Amino acid sequence: MTARAGLEGRSTGNRALMLEEPLIFEQDAPGRSGVDFAPLTLDEDRLGGLARRAPVGLPGLSEPEVVRHFTRLSQKNYGIDSGLFPLGSCTMKHNPRLNEKLARLEGLADLHPLQPASTVQGVLELFDQLSHWLSTLTGMPALALSPGAGAHGELCGMMTIRTALEDRGDARKRVLVPESAHGTNPATAAALGYEVDALPANARGRVDSAELKARLDSDVAALMITNPSTCGLFEDEIIEIAEAVHAVGGYVYLDGANFNALVGRVRPGDLGVDAMHINLHKTFSTPHGGGGPGSGPVALTAELSPFAPFPQLVHDETGFRLVEHGPEAAKSFGRLKGFHGQTGMFIRALAYMLSHGGDGLRQVSEDAVLAANYVLARTKDSLSPAFEGGCMHECLFDDTFLEGTGVTTHDFSKALIDEGYHPMTVYFPLVVHGALLVEPTESESKASLDLFIETLRTLAAKAKAGEEALFHEAPRHAPRRRLNETRAARHPRLRWRANAQAAAAE
Ligand SMILES: *Cc1c(COP(=O)(O)O)cnc(C)c1O
Repeated sequence: MTARAGLEGRSTGNRALMLEEPLIFEQDAPGRSGVDFAPLTLDEDRLGGLARRAPVGLPGLSEPEVVRHFTRLSQKNYGIDSGLFPLGSCTMKHNPRLNEKLARLEGLADLHPLQPASTVQGVLELFDQLSHWLSTLTGMPALALSPGAGAHGELCGMMTIRTALEDRGDARKRVLVPESAHGTNPATAAALGYEVDALPANARGRVDSAELKARLDSDVAALMITNPSTCGLFEDEIIEIAEAVHAVGGYVYLDGANFNALVGRVRPGDLGVDAMHINLHKTFSTPHGGGGPGSGPVALTAELSPFAPFPQLVHDETGFRLVEHGPEAAKSFGRLKGFHGQTGMFIRALAYMLSHGGDGLRQVSEDAVLAANYVLARTKDSLSPAFEGGCMHECLFDDTFLEGTGVTTHDFSKALIDEGYHPMTVYFPLVVHGALLVEPTESESKASLDLFIETLRTLAAKAKAGEEALFHEAPRHAPRRRLNETRAARHPRLRWRANAQAAAAE
């Protein structure tokens, strides 16, 4: 135990050039500072008695200590800038630096959301252009830009649908959701008070259209479907499915998280979709977390557009305006979020679209699908593909290939860390036993994919050859060994010094 959690014979806790980093507050030396401030001479209180009397308690560090602290922290993050990030369903693609440069332009970055519209016509025009691109790519005329992530987009789309149903005096109670759906789909429906009806998959891993039709009636508000599904498979009966849902007066909500497989090739509006969200941080290369917030604009049909949240962007002879009242917003379900959406992400996404052009975006989806099929084709004899045939932008395996080896999906993914890879998505989707979901994206070169494929094949061979211990001990070379994930989440011990002392005492 001591060897695992503790310093393992090293007195610093460092592992070669991977350096430990205490919390900044643990490094505090009161009174130390990287800057020399002149003594405070101001004696009059300009804050009407509200000025702070006690010190704020900021840690005291010299400039080199601050630089080292943040540099070391930045090196602890494995991100898409460090290496291949095969996290299925997340589309961890390269974030072009051009996007970052444009988002930091003073004229955009320094705007304030409360500025009068007359002073921000440029950025409002940018909203309009982004809407135009998203509308063209989805084949759906209306856009609600404000949702702050995919899950928030789902909430927005489903609130729009609920409002439209209520407007026609037809409140319905059920929402159909395939079993393979991301957890946010049933969570969204349940949060809005709907009863969630889970649809089983057929032997081909697709929504069973016969089963779907059997469950359809005038109480179904919507079907929430993901296409391609979280199994990486195109729902090839989608048109027939959408027609059946419409025939009973329901709506089709598309979870657009997997749009990277379709962008430039298929317009969801042509498939009968009424509302869908687009994760700008997946399909359109804006950063996931870290570099900024997510963004989940929602595309809507003309029929649903009056019910969309405000603010709605209007263009007339006076220019662009964001409308919250009056006839344009009369049927809107209201405000979803403060201000207008994640402007910084809109700039990045539009920069990505403009720099690729329509043909470049089509190439993106083609290359993403090609890369996933390449991984699938070259690993299918070593790992066990969950379904027969090709895939879309991600490939799904079950744990049949690990049967009898004593190695679990969890162990296998931890062994990838020792090889310098972030693990793929594991145990999702739930419809497959011990799922491993790999999404390479279009960003990787063939050489990079080959190395990853070789790693997967070698690890699978080692598991089958009885090298079980290697997996159970993994990760052996990471800064931290395998944690008890439940305990780590519930009782995190963040203080490095306290941890090191506790480990040494154990
Ligand atoms: C990522 C994802 C979501 C949720 O999107 P967020 O932006 O993370 O809120 C929903 N559905 C699927 C299939 C996803 O992959």
